[in-house]
Amino acid sequence: MRNKLIAGNWKMQGSLAENSALLQSVSAGAAILPTVSMAVMVPFPYLAQAQSILTGSRCAWGAQDVSEEPSGAFTGEVSVAMLLDMVCLYTIVGHSERRARHAETDARVAAKARAAIEGSIIPIICVGETLAEREAGHTLAVVHRQLDAVLACLGVHRLAQAVLAYEPVWAIGTGRSATPEQAQEVHAALRLRISNADWVVGAGLQILYGGSVKPSNALELMGLPDVDGALVGGASLVADDFMAIGRAAATA
Ligand code: PEP
Repeated sequence: MRNKLIAGNWKMQGSLAENSALLQSVSAGAAILPTVSMAVMVPFPYLAQAQSILTGSRCAWGAQDVSEEPSGAFTGEVSVAMLLDMVCLYTIVGHSERRARHAETDARVAAKARAAIEGSIIPIICVGETLAEREAGHTLAVVHRQLDAVLACLGVHRLAQAVLAYEPVWAIGTGRSATPEQAQEVHAALRLRISNADWVVGAGLQILYGGSVKPSNALELMGLPDVDGALVGGASLVADDFMAIGRAAATA
């Protein structure tokens, strides 16, 4: 039986003043959801604030990206060691917004995942197809290609220390979530591919769904056999909505 994880992705949003109330609500809400893991992925400048408010709570915190390099002349990048300094448990890698806007390749995403794992940070590795790729019937080929790059770089056993997130690009921030059938099909295909390499890793890996998850669709999505939680963008900025998704995961 896999635990459910509900992870918020704040993206480039928030301010010291706004975050304070949100983090306190999430901290209080997580306390009454003992069966679900909760986490928030905040912008780098707010990691210290998240650490300060969430320490001792049932909600973990993490970053939205990390460098694959350990240190050096990489202006603007943030290393695994820096995230460890801020006591991050997780970091997202390979979010479609970074793949698209920063030309992150499958190989680079895989290297980031490897660096995170080697530094004892759990990468939440995002995969997902664009609308054009889905309409062309290439969904599984695309997510398999993205997953295979990670498997080639990490090896299947280290994947056991990661979380996978299926995030169809066309569902992110659009209000249009994947249907339960679409989500389950891709999650099952990803798990099967990993299970073919190592059954135990495949059976144990948390695979999150992301893309317009909200209180109204969370119960249905969280109840799917191969969906082990959610990566939540917009709804993670509204404490009541984020906690409603957490409750859906607890009851699904
Ligand atoms: C995301 O940013 O990872 C995401 C899933 O966003 P949203 O929930 O807003 O679609």
